[in-house]
Amino acid sequence: MSVETTALFLDRDGTINVEAEYLSDPDRVELIPGSAEAIREANETGIRVFVITNQSGVARGLYTEADILAVHQRLEELLAARGAKLDALYYCPHHPDVGSPPYRIVCSCRKPKTGMLEQAAKTHGIDLASSFVVGDKCSDIEAGKNARCATTLVMTGYGRIERDRCRPDHIADNLYEAWHHIRGILQSRKKNA
Ligand SMILES: [Mg+2]
Repeated sequence: MSVETTALFLDRDGTINVEAEYLSDPDRVELIPGSAEAIREANETGIRVFVITNQSGVARGLYTEADILAVHQRLEELLAARGAKLDALYYCPHHPDVGSPPYRIVCSCRKPKTGMLEQAAKTHGIDLASSFVVGDKCSDIEAGKNARCATTLVMTGYGRIERDRCRPDHIADNLYEAWHHIRGILQSRKKNA
């Protein structure tokens, strides 16, 4: 398997940027220290980097899809300023039982479901079984497991609260440490190839 068909799937809030509870204001996007460096180093290896984020604030009527896109634009600007790039960002605006249609729906994308990972895999030719998921919630970890990815729970965001509720393959202090663990796995795969 080549590194180009391997992906790093990153949760957004509490993993890349500081958790801010239904973040909808681009001016409040703040990178967690080391996040941009982790993504930049990942970019340098050729691994694809995707954001997969549950944004039920849309279903809840707290903000719109346009707000999500504005936040994503700001996130990408902050990352670009540090030489880091995302290959694509996927979000799920749904919730199974809050709000009104069309956003109140039992969808296939809300983590721990795998719709966003599968969409990225299909569009970008990703091999999920060799890929990685990093997040601060058990829903991230379960989504990764459901898609057969290796999983890392970070201790930023909700990580410390969630830690005893699921079984990630690895626990890291933050995204930068998570990336270093994953980089080690990629290097040993390369050696054994
Ligand atoms: Mg999160």
